[in-house]
Amino acid sequence: MAETLHYDLAVIGSGPGGYVAAIRAGQLGLKTAIIEKDDKLGGTCLHVGCIPTKALLLNAEVLDYFKNAKEFGIVCKEFSVDWAAVQTRKDKIVKKLAKGVEFLLKKNHVDMIQGFGRLAGPGRVSVTDAKGQTSEIAAKNVVLATGSEAKMLPGLEADGRTILTNREVLELKELPKSMIIIGAGAVGVEFASIFHRFGTKVTVLEMLPHAVPLEDEEISAEMEKSFRKQGIVLHTQARVEKATKTAQGVSVAFTGADGKAQTLEAETLLVAVGRAPNTQGLGLEKTRVELERGFVKVDGTMQTAEPGVFAIGDIVAGSPLLAHVAFAEGITAVTHAAGRPVEPINYQQVPNCTYCEPEIASVGLSERQAREAGHKLRVGRFPFSANSKAGILGVREGFVKIVSDEKYGEILGVHMIGPRVTEAIAEAVAVMRLEGTAEDLEHIIHAHPTLAEAVLEAAHAVTGKAIHI
Ligand SMILES: Cc1cc2nc3c(=O)[nH]c(=O)nc-3n(C[C@H](O)[C@H](O)[C@H](O)COP(=O)(O)OP(=O)(O)OC[C@H]3O[C@@H](n4cnc5c(N)ncnc54)[C@H](O)[C@@H]3O)c2cc1C
Repeated sequence: MAETLHYDLAVIGSGPGGYVAAIRAGQLGLKTAIIEKDDKLGGTCLHVGCIPTKALLLNAEVLDYFKNAKEFGIVCKEFSVDWAAVQTRKDKIVKKLAKGVEFLLKKNHVDMIQGFGRLAGPGRVSVTDAKGQTSEIAAKNVVLATGSEAKMLPGLEADGRTILTNREVLELKELPKSMIIIGAGAVGVEFASIFHRFGTKVTVLEMLPHAVPLEDEEISAEMEKSFRKQGIVLHTQARVEKATKTAQGVSVAFTGADGKAQTLEAETLLVAVGRAPNTQGLGLEKTRVELERGFVKVDGTMQTAEPGVFAIGDIVAGSPLLAHVAFAEGITAVTHAAGRPVEPINYQQVPNCTYCEPEIASVGLSERQAREAGHKLRVGRFPFSANSKAGILGVREGFVKIVSDEKYGEILGVHMIGPRVTEAIAEAVAVMRLEGTAEDLEHIIHAHPTLAEAVLEAAHAVTGKAIHI
């Protein structure tokens, strides 16, 4: 029998939570192993999430420039999409980054073990490889970072051609003529933005009253307006009753906002109705780990109720399902495991970004949430139509909105929709982290002409003193 290997820390899952936790553990001098069931490192984010979607969104943006070439004084009579080449570019980006993850793990002396990991008792992790062989390692601390999978509608199964989740939709060999997307959260609207611009007839069905329902209502309204202007059909308050495969594709029956039953047909159906945590089969039932609807409960240092067992990323109860949150939680967990002081994450200061067209980014409380929390508010808004750089880029829609407390001017939330706002949000997060006020933001000199000036102007607007409008 092979000798059991002993580690200070074992990480189960190599997504953004897991690989960052392992790298930081290595940096802190912990003997570390990372266990991954798939034959590639990087998890949802790298292979079927953040990275491939953003690569495709960039292609769609480039295509938009070709379509609007005339506006820029460029004559471009003939152009077409080579979908296979688009996919190849995306795959190359993903492959390169996956190699980068492997390199970083090696550089930090992390042992990589392929197989399905589960807790096998206090301080023990069993690993079952692809051939079904099981081995065991010993670890003083274990970080669970097993992530999440797309939820499916009852009675449906993804088939790779017609019924799709975020996995299969990224592998389509041909551009579909039409697509129904169920769910207008971040995943749904990003795919809508990709496929609509590549020429697919896209219809989005959202059960709630607004698209991107977690965002400030003004942002949702602006996004809905823009989507409809672009030609994306969007039904809100649409309750899907049944989805069935047909000879031509799919048929989706739903009840609309007016209470009337409707049926839509399309070549493909993308189900984007949320994520389920991968917490089954991890051996949790024999531990003190507590679950909440399948998600793992943790304290401020990401520790579960089982001594020496941590949880990070998409499996954490109440934590937003975002890669950068998983990064931060991984660092928090292993810093604590290494016996170093660590500050709990402030989830009010997490940026939320949706890379649809137009982009959306926000941090902190929405206007409604701030009012409901009892704050008296001052709200500043500035439209990109009055921002010189947006004009140069040919963008006229979107705005920046700052929600601040009336009494002390503390910034409670910043909400943006428009060009490159997923980059601009970093400034808002930094100012909030430093407990800055709208007035502090007004004193930060912004380069001209930049899109970031819209943030400065929104800060001026908090006290009714925006300059360029
Ligand atoms: C389409 C889409 C787009 C997204 N875009 C963004 C974005 O732009 N920005 C953003 O911040 N977030 C985005 N997300 C969310 C982001 O991908 C997740 O929040 C992030 O990947 C979570 O990281 P994680 O480490 O918790 O888990 P995951 O990335 O899901 O990784 C978990 C890993 O654990 C492995 N694993 C599972 N169980 C076991 C086991 N028992 N043993 C061994 N290995 C196991 C899995 O194979 C996987 O590799 C997107 C998600 C989707 C679906």
